[in-house]
Amino acid sequence: MITGNRLPLQGLPTEKPQWQQELGNMITRLPDLLSYLELKQPPAALADMAQQPFPVRVTRYYADLMASGDWQDPLLSQVLPWAEEERTVAGYEADPLGEQDATALPGLIHKYRSRVLIVPTSACAIHCRYCFRRHFPYNDHRLSTQDQTHIVTYLSARPEINEVIFSGGDPLMLTDHHLQRWLTTLADIPSLTRVRFHSRLPVVLPERLTADWLTAVTSTRLQPVLVLHSNHPNEVTPVLGNALAPLRAAGLTLLNQTVLLAGINDQPEVLIELSERLFRSGVLPYYLHQNDAVAGAHHFTVSDHSAKALHQALQARLPGYLVPRLVREEPGKPAKTWLR
Ligand SMILES: *Cc1c(COP(=O)(O)O)cnc(C)c1O
Ligand code: SF4
Repeated sequence: MITGNRLPLQGLPTEKPQWQQELGNMITRLPDLLSYLELKQPPAALADMAQQPFPVRVTRYYADLMASGDWQDPLLSQVLPWAEEERTVAGYEADPLGEQDATALPGLIHKYRSRVLIVPTSACAIHCRYCFRRHFPYNDHRLSTQDQTHIVTYLSARPEINEVIFSGGDPLMLTDHHLQRWLTTLADIPSLTRVRFHSRLPVVLPERLTADWLTAVTSTRLQPVLVLHSNHPNEVTPVLGNALAPLRAAGLTLLNQTVLLAGINDQPEVLIELSERLFRSGVLPYYLHQNDAVAGAHHFTVSDHSAKALHQALQARLPGYLVPRLVREEPGKPAKTWLR
């Protein structure tokens, strides 16, 4: 029998899980990123980070997937701030999706009839330069217990809402304990049937998919769906596949959304390989997003004409279930707009 004074000292609950320690070890400065990847002599001007409200942020795991010394690496291109970001371009705004108007309560965005977004945290484990929430006033979205109570009251009064989507920020930045509290509370709302997570964390830090997380998301009657955010086949690694295997075994539905990005994934071969690799890991492609017209991200834009041609090329070469829907988010619409 193990008595109190013989309990091992390691693994006490006060110790942070490995993934949280990794977050403490992220690259958060542009010079650190450049030296980590042995990048010298930029081919164009880099952004002045002293003037940049959206700092550099990338996990070491994700940086390790990039090729050293390659300014054109497709993963690096998603996190590297060029001076081009600082140029004002007509039609590119801070809040292109009208999310400020659709914010029903702090932390709750209700645009579509049957489902809502909950933004439980401001944090992400990577800063994607094309992000449409890069100007989001996240500080308005630190949810207190009282905010949570208000959200529950809102959902309880609207039985037409049957699905809650945890979005962000990145909802997997929440601790498993915190998440468990949310899910237990939400499961008491009879009209809810599903809970969905929109997260990039599995792709940039696969070890985030802990056994405790899986226990939390499968602990209630709500059917769990995990939508990954992966843009390039180099992001779909064996490490990610291994981290997803227990989720598949537990019956989670696994989907992926991709943002269409000029110079990164706007070639048919890249998106075909992405779909093939995702499927090998048990993930189905869901959406291919036309990037939103957010200020600072104009250089990632692919024209609708090219996007549709690309989508047709995918249809000609992939089974229907591996072709993501090409969509755009438009303010005031009842759902995402399908581009055909
Ligand atoms: C994309 C989005 C959803 C989810 O849409 P689905 O088509 O169900 O994936 C819900 N709410 C908002 C505000 C969205 O932008
Ligand atoms: S919300 Fe998603 S797209 Fe935006 S910075 Fe965070 S991880 Fe990247």
